[in-house]
Amino acid sequence: MTSAIVKISVYAVQVPLKEGVYTMSGGRALDAFDTTIARIETKDGLVGWGEVTPLGNNYLPSYTAGARTGIKEIAPRLLGLDATELARINGEMDLALKGHPYVKTALDIACWDILGRKAGLPVATLLGGRFGKTIKLYRSITKDTPAAMARRIKEFRAQGYRTFQLKVGGEPDLDIARIRATAKAVKPGDRLVADANGGWLPHEAARVVDAVRDLDVAIEQPCQSYEENLTIRRRTARPFVLDESIDSLGALQRAIADGAMDAINIKLSKFGGLSRARVIRDVANANGIATTIEDTACTDITAAAVAALAHSTPEALRFSVTLANVKLAFRTATGAPFPKNGEAASLPVPGLGVEPIMKVLGRPLYEVK
Ligand code: MG
Repeated sequence: MTSAIVKISVYAVQVPLKEGVYTMSGGRALDAFDTTIARIETKDGLVGWGEVTPLGNNYLPSYTAGARTGIKEIAPRLLGLDATELARINGEMDLALKGHPYVKTALDIACWDILGRKAGLPVATLLGGRFGKTIKLYRSITKDTPAAMARRIKEFRAQGYRTFQLKVGGEPDLDIARIRATAKAVKPGDRLVADANGGWLPHEAARVVDAVRDLDVAIEQPCQSYEENLTIRRRTARPFVLDESIDSLGALQRAIADGAMDAINIKLSKFGGLSRARVIRDVANANGIATTIEDTACTDITAAAVAALAHSTPEALRFSVTLANVKLAFRTATGAPFPKNGEAASLPVPGLGVEPIMKVLGRPLYEVK
């Protein structure tokens, strides 16, 4: 029996951040996640859930209103298609709207949820199987004074976390002090990543990487453009991570050919959901490039999808993972993998294993049927 799509409903939820304001380079700051949740229903009675949460309007070329408008554009084209035929679904989405991968993310994830529920298998199994019992998670350390950032690491270490991503960028002297102070707060075997989110000019990045050359720290996306990052990569021996610059398969292929990084950051919505993120993961891993797996921002449905992709990634190639890099004021779904002692696990149940809390979702913004 086919699982023809009969209805697509879209919900909007504003979820405040429990820990206050999340700050990145360039004065970019957020105090809530504005998430878009898609529900897909099929003729044979299956329901799948997907989610996309841009990190504000100025992190990547994605924004919340764009996701909601774009899904409305695509959804009518998916009616009648079999939700379990992921390649056909993605092909049709590309015909309905060229590019805009973030717009397609919630729909792709919802179809994976349906595929898993219909097959009776966890999405992690469909993506390759679970490597290890759990996934080690990282914590993001928001920009602050060097001492405060070092203190945060000690707090998170006490909670079981061993990988830390510092938010730096834009203030090279202070950033050097931040990296040096936090490097003292970690212990052997921990992983420390300084993520500038493209916030340094090349001359600033060159100073920073030189000033921390004696430390065990990885450098993530120091500058904005790929070319700028490549010059810094060639001037440092530190492990090097590209994130914002790797936003397509073509960008990844070029960067592999250039030897431009040791790890990449895969955000599901940069590539359009699980289908395309899996391709990026597999191509990177096949070339020895480790992968950080997460999404721009997220609540519980995305967390389940991230956990599925992360858990199906071999542990040696799992550079770092976060389900939600900040604590949220409330949950949007039950059943989602939840961090415990710095670890989590994808759920060994069919599909993504999450059930949205309908009183939190409220009435749909719109329905297409
Ligand atoms: Mg990053």
